[in-house]
Amino acid sequence: MALFGGSSACKKGDMLYAWTNDAEIKKKAELGGAVTGLWKHALASKAVDAVLVVTKGADLYDARPVLITNPGDLAKTAGSLHCGTLLLPKMVKKFLDGAKGKKIGVTVKGCDVMGFYELAKRKEINLDNVFMIGVNCGGSVSPVSARKMIADKFGVDPDKVTKEEIDKGQFIIEYEGGHKGISIDELEDAGYGRRSNCRRCKYKIPRQADLACGNWGVIGDKAGKATFVEVCSDKGAKLVDGAVKAGVLATEAANPKGLEIRAKVEGAMFKLGDKWRKKDFSALGANMWDKIAKETSRCIKCYSCIENCPVCFTAAKELTKNSLMVRPGELPPNPMFHMRRFAHISDSCINCGQCEELCPAEIPLALFSHAIRAESDTAFAPKLGASAYKN
Ligand SMILES: Cc1cc2nc3c(=O)[nH]c(=O)nc-3n(C[C@H](O)[C@H](O)[C@H](O)COP(=O)(O)OP(=O)(O)OC[C@H]3O[C@@H](n4cnc5c(N)ncnc54)[C@H](O)[C@@H]3O)c2cc1C
Repeated sequence: MALFGGSSACKKGDMLYAWTNDAEIKKKAELGGAVTGLWKHALASKAVDAVLVVTKGADLYDARPVLITNPGDLAKTAGSLHCGTLLLPKMVKKFLDGAKGKKIGVTVKGCDVMGFYELAKRKEINLDNVFMIGVNCGGSVSPVSARKMIADKFGVDPDKVTKEEIDKGQFIIEYEGGHKGISIDELEDAGYGRRSNCRRCKYKIPRQADLACGNWGVIGDKAGKATFVEVCSDKGAKLVDGAVKAGVLATEAANPKGLEIRAKVEGAMFKLGDKWRKKDFSALGANMWDKIAKETSRCIKCYSCIENCPVCFTAAKELTKNSLMVRPGELPPNPMFHMRRFAHISDSCINCGQCEELCPAEIPLALFSHAIRAESDTAFAPKLGASAYKN
């Protein structure tokens, strides 16, 4: 790829190392700051009207969505929050009119990408107006269990932690007085680590976004200093080209050895996802329906599972009306309420985990929903063909 007006422009399929030239972004970025640098250029060049990203709130465990319209405000949104478990597509539907009137840029994990596609299928989002910069995602850690894990396994006060990262299979923290890393496998064997839906996830490199960015495969003198960028669409290629021409971004072709390593890591993550699926689904065993009835008997009918599901649209207020499924004043609701919800979304569940993450009664809803989805995929996949994403 030529950097400044040369003959070979960036194109779909390119694999690049990229880094921003913006000093303020560089200071705060996770790696090369390519994601934030690209957003800065997208806003400045009016490729998008606004950018929806995730930024640190009260502390490291508090990830907040923020809509940015001023390119100068982007630097503070750089960096990865591994305890950030937000899902952005339904926010675009609810609060940004489904991107029907404005062009919105969004930093997306694999589950966000799937959420956007599911909403677009239901005509709730105008995908033509959504620009997606994807970040590879090995999984996120729930904020509550992250605090507990840091106290119990690291022996550190979670409020004293100044930085967290996931690198080379370890969860690493920096805190007043030192830093410490523990392997994710060890943490997960002890019941901590990534959210259970993330462990089962097999959509690690979000290639249905316009660009897929990450650290896997960045080796040599660029390790830790550049972002790996896979160019997944013509729109993505155009943005990279524009940012390079504007001097916001620099790129070079990815090291071929780095490409091999990235492919190997992705393959290993698929295997790990399969291992967790086998473990979690087989633990449900033949009595899954009894287990669903037992666990959902804690339901308090807050309807958060419906409110936050990217494939479900029944308005919660509709359910408060008298119906056979949920009678007013009756707690818990009849188990058929949950059974029908699972049936309703079973062909589309994207395993984003929002239902479980936000359930105040801690019902393992994502596990049930994903198990049912996986079973229906096994039953029908040969007839329907391969699913678009390996969620
Ligand atoms: C939860 C999580 C897990 C990740 N796991 C891997 C991995 O296993 N392998 C790998 O190669 N890369 C992974 N990444 C991507 C990597 O950490 C970098 O985000 C990516 O390489 C871009 O680097 P950058 O310096 O260009 O990004 P920056 O310029 O620093 O920008 C980072 C962008 O990510 C957004 N962001 C931060 N936290 C979140 C969040 N929780 N959810 C959604 N968006 C967020 C920010 O708002 C910003 O737009 C992960 C990222 C996240 C958020």
